[in-house]
Amino acid sequence: MTGNEGMPSSASMAGGASMPGNEGMTGNEGMTGNGSLQRTYEIKELADGVYRLEGHQGECLMYLVVGTEKACLIDTGMGVCDLRQTIRSITDKPFFAINTHCHIDHCLGNNQFEEVYVTKESLPDLESSLKEQRGMPPRADEVEDKQVFETDYGFAEDGDTFYLGGRTLSVVFTPGHTPGDICIIDDKSRIAFVGDLVTAGSHMCHMLAYVRDMAFTTVSIETWDRSLRKMQGMQDGFDWMLSGHDEDLLGHDVLQRTIDLERSILDGTAKPYHPQLPEMYGGLVCWEVDDGEMSIIYHEETIFDRES
Ligand SMILES: [Zn+2]
Repeated sequence: MTGNEGMPSSASMAGGASMPGNEGMTGNEGMTGNGSLQRTYEIKELADGVYRLEGHQGECLMYLVVGTEKACLIDTGMGVCDLRQTIRSITDKPFFAINTHCHIDHCLGNNQFEEVYVTKESLPDLESSLKEQRGMPPRADEVEDKQVFETDYGFAEDGDTFYLGGRTLSVVFTPGHTPGDICIIDDKSRIAFVGDLVTAGSHMCHMLAYVRDMAFTTVSIETWDRSLRKMQGMQDGFDWMLSGHDEDLLGHDVLQRTIDLERSILDGTAKPYHPQLPEMYGGLVCWEVDDGEMSIIYHEETIFDRES
């Protein structure tokens, strides 16, 4: 794999495609009746050796892929509960984590891991997310007995592979939701873990730099289009996609529909309207296109690449 170059020990955030506007977060999410945090996540086996860890409010869905030698957790949520204990209830193999991107709902559990891989392009978001914890639920490092590590970060790059024993995870660099997104393809289950690059619902990803005073990074729809097409060009290698916010397996058709919708923005044929956004987007004038099931909220300054 890639070397473990030094990384910032901590990091302004960016919300997920369906990241809620923080409204309704009381700081008690994940609390049990007696006031202590729930220790584990709900687990569902989706395919042989592929488990979904269901996050609490505001957290992404996390996926554990288990091989005969190692296990890998794809995204770490917000660290609301004890990820290590959850993983240990599934497998006794050594484990590490990868972030599909470093929005706050995907990476705040990193400090429960000794070894985490991110892309270099995600570092600004990681730095921001680790600093940005206002209004968030209690984190697992506030739970007694939970282990918190000085995480050793490594860099994941396009084409990197992680052999887990009997299965290999391949990294595909796919900037679009953020500048540092990756998708991860598991050759055994033939599932692509796509983070927030593709979802079946609302895409809200090209305007985040404007949200409050948070130091988000943003990407053009043009760049996102290239990454979606890149994934489409590789779709012989996967049958399904799992996103950070959809409970269902997504088929290739979702990729095509996403491309169709964003193409309509790029070629000016979209019929956009002003969406009602949560208060956290106050003052932001943006647009939404909607095909009835899938929607894209975007800011007109982020349609095209800056240099074009
Ligand atoms: Zn995100």
